[in-house]
Amino acid sequence: MPVRTCTSCDYTYDPTEGDPEAGIPPVAPVETLTNEWICPACGAINEEFEPD
Ligand SMILES: [Zn+2]
Repeated sequence: MPVRTCTSCDYTYDPTEGDPEAGIPPVAPVETLTNEWICPACGAINEEFEPD
């Protein structure tokens, strides 16, 4: 599964780990992230993320 990188702070979303603090379980493909999901590091909106 591809990771996605925040264009604002270079945080990388790794689908194999998910984002438990935001309620995203591990092994959640990035496609399952909702538009409400934001960067846990800097708060950028989902659309700021670019596929690696
Ligand atoms: Zn960020």
